[in-house]
Amino acid sequence: MKEDKSVELDAFVKDLSAKGIAMESIDEYLEEIVVDDYDSWKAPFDMWPYNIIRYMSGLEVEKPAYIVRIESENDIVEVLASARENGVCIIPVCGLSNVVGATLPSGKCVFLDVSRMNRILEFDPENRYVVVEAGVKIRELLEWLEAKGYTLTYRPQSEKLACVGGSIGTLGSGALSPRLGNIEDIVLWMEVVTPAGEVLTIGSKRNPRGIIQPGINMVYFGSEGGYGVITKVALRVVEKPETVIDIAFAMESFERAVEAARRIYSWEPPLLMRIQDKREAQLHYGLEKDVVIVQVGGPSRIAEAKAAWIRDLITQLGGTPREGLIEEWWKTRYNYSESMKMVLSAGLAFDTIDMAAYWRVLPRLHKRLIGELESMSGVSLAFSHASHFYINGGALYTTIVFERDPDLYWKIWEKAISVAINVGASIVHHHNIGVLREKWAFEEFEGSLKLAYLLKKALDPGATIRSGILGRVRFDE
Ligand SMILES: Cc1cc2nc3c(=O)[nH]c(=O)nc-3n(C[C@H](O)[C@H](O)[C@H](O)COP(=O)(O)OP(=O)(O)OC[C@H]3O[C@@H](n4cnc5c(N)ncnc54)[C@H](O)[C@@H]3O)c2cc1C
Repeated sequence: MKEDKSVELDAFVKDLSAKGIAMESIDEYLEEIVVDDYDSWKAPFDMWPYNIIRYMSGLEVEKPAYIVRIESENDIVEVLASARENGVCIIPVCGLSNVVGATLPSGKCVFLDVSRMNRILEFDPENRYVVVEAGVKIRELLEWLEAKGYTLTYRPQSEKLACVGGSIGTLGSGALSPRLGNIEDIVLWMEVVTPAGEVLTIGSKRNPRGIIQPGINMVYFGSEGGYGVITKVALRVVEKPETVIDIAFAMESFERAVEAARRIYSWEPPLLMRIQDKREAQLHYGLEKDVVIVQVGGPSRIAEAKAAWIRDLITQLGGTPREGLIEEWWKTRYNYSESMKMVLSAGLAFDTIDMAAYWRVLPRLHKRLIGELESMSGVSLAFSHASHFYINGGALYTTIVFERDPDLYWKIWEKAISVAINVGASIVHHHNIGVLREKWAFEEFEGSLKLAYLLKKALDPGATIRSGILGRVRFDE
């Protein structure tokens, strides 16, 4: 790619204007930049904390040359055709809420914004699915379904910000329902436009197992837009449970809480299960104890039986029941914008570190990570919770508050990744790789990334789509 892209961009802009496709130049956007309001994101870059730190420190943040706001699948085909012809690079975006730089527009790329493709197309309650355009926000879909007595089990904290397509792109995960809480658990099939402009249906529209195509089941999950633009998705929905019962216990240690989660998961993946370390519990509830919170649901008799079994199990592990914690947790779960404002106005920054580990490793990961991060100069606060459980282990999610310094940002990540590797944990759970984890991803995912790059090269030989980790392919290597 040549450095000066202005000639190609001019031809691209002319071409799209002639086709009546709406676009904004970045100069029109610059006055609108606000980075401390997560409820209404007004910045032409994603929510990667490194972007925010750089912006607030007066440093350059990579921005797209233009933002194209497409309305239909056909628009996408046209934009990609014009981009290929004129040598312009494209980054698909929707909520811009990813926190790993998965939409970093290196090399004057153009944002292709799918957020106007947000219609709910079909709802089939008997067969329990809904078909939507990929730009629909998770919260909007959830509210629409709940009004009809149905719900989604994929419930990320960012449900107000994140779209369905962006969730597939980053392999999103929600805290609710350890059983069907990940985006890949609920997708039945999807429609995509490949970088070459071909419209494909991925999966079968007739098979309730979901995407079971030979050899390519998971290809678009976590692809960060690299294989093309997702336009339409069929998602599993479930009936709202008749009864939900809250269970909350204070535990003697984080290890004990992990053991409780491990045993509960063997027989009864609940609606919600979350361990909060004593630092997080102190912030949320003013309680300096590690806690485990659980929600079970279903018809009353079943929910009550599950709750009784779980309460006995946690009591045997030395837990003490605590009232009202879950209510309190729900109340503050979506207050991230306020927290963000508070941290930024104090001259600080924050980030969240998502990792995953087998059961035996999880407590060790927690202890080492918190210990190492707390001892770093410039770090004010570090606390964790574990959620997103599986039969074999779970995710650890650590929030860290620190001095707003781009160099410190990278030191924190270097430290965190080295702890994960040393204790035998995985460096990622649900925020995906992006540009953030690029330099470490090959150590853990070498085989998968080799395959992913071969596929990327075949689908997009001109590197028209440049988003995320796959957009960083060096084709000549
Ligand atoms: C406060 C906060 C809380 C969060 N909580 C969670 C959480 O609980 N769970 C979780 O998993 N994540 C969470 N995140 C991260 C973020 O919300 C997710 O990564 C989300 O799935 C991104 O969706 P988006 O629509 O904003 O995508 P974007 O940020 O716009 O894009 C993300 C990636 O997907 C690609 N993409 C977007 N749309 C399409 C499309 N139609 N087709 C192909 N590729 C596309 C982009 O190119 C990019 O690589 C949180 C973020 C914040 C700021």
